[in-house]
Amino acid sequence: MSITAQSVWNNCLEFIKDNIQPQAYKTWFEPIKAVKLTDNALSIQVPSKFFYEWLEEHYVKILKVSLTKELGEKAKLVYIIKMENTYGNKQPFTERIPSANRSSVKAQDVDIPLNNKSPELRNPFVIPGIRNVKIESQLNPNYSFENFLEGDSNRLARSAGLAVAAKPGGTSFNPLLIFGGVGLGKTHLAHAIGVDIKDKYPEKTVLYISAEKFTQQYIDSVKKNNRNDFIHFYQIIDVLIIDDVQFLSGKSGTQDVFFHIFNHLHQNGKQVILTSDKAPVDMQDIEQRLLSRFKWGLSAELQNPDFETRVSILKNKLYRDGVEMPDDIIEYVAKNIKTNVRELEGAIISLIAQSSFNKKEITIELAKQIVEKFVKNTKREVSIDYIQKIVSDYFQMDVDTLQSKTRKRHIVQARQLAMFFAKKFTKASLASIGSQIGKRDHATVLHACKTVDNLSSTDKQFRKYVEDITKKLSV
Ligand code: ADP
Ligand code: MG
Repeated sequence: MSITAQSVWNNCLEFIKDNIQPQAYKTWFEPIKAVKLTDNALSIQVPSKFFYEWLEEHYVKILKVSLTKELGEKAKLVYIIKMENTYGNKQPFTERIPSANRSSVKAQDVDIPLNNKSPELRNPFVIPGIRNVKIESQLNPNYSFENFLEGDSNRLARSAGLAVAAKPGGTSFNPLLIFGGVGLGKTHLAHAIGVDIKDKYPEKTVLYISAEKFTQQYIDSVKKNNRNDFIHFYQIIDVLIIDDVQFLSGKSGTQDVFFHIFNHLHQNGKQVILTSDKAPVDMQDIEQRLLSRFKWGLSAELQNPDFETRVSILKNKLYRDGVEMPDDIIEYVAKNIKTNVRELEGAIISLIAQSSFNKKEITIELAKQIVEKFVKNTKREVSIDYIQKIVSDYFQMDVDTLQSKTRKRHIVQARQLAMFFAKKFTKASLASIGSQIGKRDHATVLHACKTVDNLSSTDKQFRKYVEDITKKLSV
């Protein structure tokens, strides 16, 4: 049988797999492709520069051992960094790093055009001296890396965040998109990156802003006729962190302006960090050109933390608050609240509060009562039936009317609001929302969400409905 790049690499993988954690294997080795074998040099393709750096830093020994076993003492490893959608390259960008003296290859030697900062690219609009204007970062110093506990569920995102913080704009993670469900730490991690950058590079201008606030500022700037000032302000930022970009869905004006700001920052080697509650592929009503920009860098998911991570998050929280709690109670809480770190913390806080207000001892019984409340409440909050009930109560109609086929305007609006909130507050797909609210199809739901978005930005009365119902759904 002839030896091919693939067969050599497969053997290496087998060896590596036996010697490292399964999660690490999945993260760092599965995405690698073996591409070429010449004499004693194996070329492997990795998806980013960061990937290469990570392998060199953490797995160089095991790579060497396994490859030497296959190809003998003179074995060499050649990395090919292949990024998809690389900016400024018509062709896919590939790069080789000669492996003759791999250990002396420094990260800086991997020169990716993405990060070229040519002085000609300076913003022609910046008024001289404006850089001296101090911009408040809006960062929360309590959200640090130190208290963002590591686990399998967040390892990739966390380490990508650390890499970005070490070299803002200087890694291939630009933009860095952190995505994941509610309460899993997106905002915390985004702040942590900013805080760390401010710490390491105090001269850099870092700005944290929610997509919602960004949108509001943009709308105001259009009203006040100073859209250009708005754009210029954002173009002088070194590290721009935008939280919850899914909020830009359907807002084409804001998307357009963000597209231009993004391009400007990116071309100038500035770092962009985004968070979203969905992966780029699942984002709806975001322009294609913007989505493709999101995919230039790295999309890293925050998953539900496993049991051990949940326990360490709780212990860390208690430690910081100076509270002691028996292990079996911590474990009980961690075992029963699984999908949301914010709720996990909430349960512990009410446990502490209950016991100190009522001077009760913290017992398993008390923990059970509190956890039950938490689990029940969240279940009630997210059901589509509950949303339909709240919306129809609000408009003083019954649920059957809300679901009926009528085209009467106020009923249609109530139905559209129910669909909008179902999309917002549950994980249900458009199709399943449609089928539960009057047997409509997914396009109808999509249309409803758009209509509600539009109306709430143009119609004051309608915005009041949205606000009122949001409040009712959040208690
Ligand atoms: P998201 O933005 O994804 O909805 P947040 O960043 O607001 O979530 O996190 C919710 C809460 O959970 C915050 O108080 C945050 O500090 C905490 N949290 C989330 N992940 C972790 C973690 N890995 N370690 C410690 N605390 C965490
Ligand atoms: Mg958040």
